[in-house]
Amino acid sequence: MMQRPERKRWIAFRYPRLNVCLSSFIIHHSFTLHPSLFSCYPSPMTDWIDISTPLHPGLPVWPGDPPFKIRSLSSISNGAAFNLSEIAMSSHAGTHLDAPRHCFDNGAPAESAPLDSLIGPARVIEIAEPVGAPEIDWLRIGQGERVLFKTGGRMDLLLPEAAERLVTIGVALVGIDALSIGAGDEAGDFIHRTLLGAGIWILETLDLSQVSPGDYDLICLPLKIIGADGVPARAVLRPR
Ligand SMILES: [Zn+2]
Repeated sequence: MMQRPERKRWIAFRYPRLNVCLSSFIIHHSFTLHPSLFSCYPSPMTDWIDISTPLHPGLPVWPGDPPFKIRSLSSISNGAAFNLSEIAMSSHAGTHLDAPRHCFDNGAPAESAPLDSLIGPARVIEIAEPVGAPEIDWLRIGQGERVLFKTGGRMDLLLPEAAERLVTIGVALVGIDALSIGAGDEAGDFIHRTLLGAGIWILETLDLSQVSPGDYDLICLPLKIIGADGVPARAVLRPR
């Protein structure tokens, strides 16, 4: 029992940011802590790249969609016992998943998002020119692949025939680092209906700016909002 304060000081010296959590950890555990326990410090998530677009007021949204808002309802600095906020946003703000219900009244809603399609190996493909069916073939995209297109924010690079080819291949997921997978025109509408109509959910407004083309592990978890046509999601990649 007498050794505990000494261990606590040592850990605080070596790992100052762990001081608070380790203090409580030590109080509840009597065995000796070994430095190897903390070999992953400072962050056990260093391999993971957050590809989620931050949600904040001023976030670019689709023209006409409501802006993202966060409003304080209760504030400690104003004498309240806690901080509490109200959040208002469209279902397609920031990184989000398009559910089939986005284009079809009877389409699958957000709560039925296929988690198997959202977690697993994924390929980031950088494109700078319009991509049609021949380019999809050239990329040798396979059945069940999760493909994330890095476009630099462009919504006009994926052509309708590319969407048809991705459906024929039977990919598991299509993502893009633009507000939408298609511009607000007939082609964009066709791409949405083609993919979502085939049960291929679409991940939009990714931030792939820090990601090189290649193979990764993807974890994407959308919020479970009942009946929604789209939902905010957190998405991360880890190089394979
Ligand atoms: Zn969307």
